[in-house]
Amino acid sequence: ATPLAILIATSKITRLGAVAKSGDIIERYSKADVFLFDKTGTITQGALKIEDIIAEDKTRLHALAASLERNSSHLIAKAITSAYQDDFLSVSDFSEIPGKGVTGVVDGQSVMVGTKVFLTESGVTLPQVPDTGHTVACVAVDGKYAGMIALSDSIKESAADVLKYLSGKGIKAVIITGDNRSAAEKLVEKLGIKGLEFVSDVTPFQKADIVKHYQKDNKICVMVGDGINDAPALTTADVGVAIGQGTDIAIESSDIVLMRDELGLLTTLHQTSVKTLRVIK
Ligand code: ADP
Ligand code: MG
Repeated sequence: ATPLAILIATSKITRLGAVAKSGDIIERYSKADVFLFDKTGTITQGALKIEDIIAEDKTRLHALAASLERNSSHLIAKAITSAYQDDFLSVSDFSEIPGKGVTGVVDGQSVMVGTKVFLTESGVTLPQVPDTGHTVACVAVDGKYAGMIALSDSIKESAADVLKYLSGKGIKAVIITGDNRSAAEKLVEKLGIKGLEFVSDVTPFQKADIVKHYQKDNKICVMVGDGINDAPALTTADVGVAIGQGTDIAIESSDIVLMRDELGLLTTLHQTSVKTLRVIK
């Protein structure tokens, strides 16, 4: 496309509510072969809700988890913290591992909250739990499994339409998530889009590897995400798209920022970029 065509496309896209950091990004976006989507906060609203606390002492488990999660900005952390009404316990040595969970000393006890993989890797033995399609935050106290918090999230209204649009254009769509398989499966089932693939239980760097995998044979890959956990994948993708309400690091790592939390923008951007770059020569 000519510089003028790209300039016109850029200005149209700005008016629609997205910021592209450079003009050639729009051209790449218009030629995308694959769209990769993060799940939590991207396809889903990210307003998670606690469905169940499974523990011998639910009150204590919630107090430990909420006090620790108060230091994290993860959407799971926000859900666990905001549902907690009591006084927070003292926390020291807090640390957060993106895509896995958080650890720290809470009220004198060593506490971990995160994925099954995270706890297992740290030597915690987990019980067999049935898959319910929930997002789960497993909790260990002093190196022993103490319980889990099951959370639910709802799908963004416009998600299915965008996925249908892409499928209609012959563009492949894949959801890549750090969440568990059962939660990812349930989401894909709810979306009901033919050919929609997913990869679950991945770390932030594995997300970037998946982008590289789909970039083989010179395929153009768009990654859409909102979290710290998406930053490596957003950087690796040919076009990284961040949700404007997402974390600063996601925005920094991206090429296009959606100024409204409206996935329909992805469709409009595609239509506009394809049309503008085709018509004006
Ligand atoms: P997604 O790819 O769905 O956006 P993330 O990569 O951010 O998810 O996180 C993957 C998983 O890691 C979450 O489903 C959760 O189980 C766990 N996790 C990450 N951060 C936290 C946290 N602060 N507290 C509890 N669990 C967490
Ligand atoms: Mg996310």
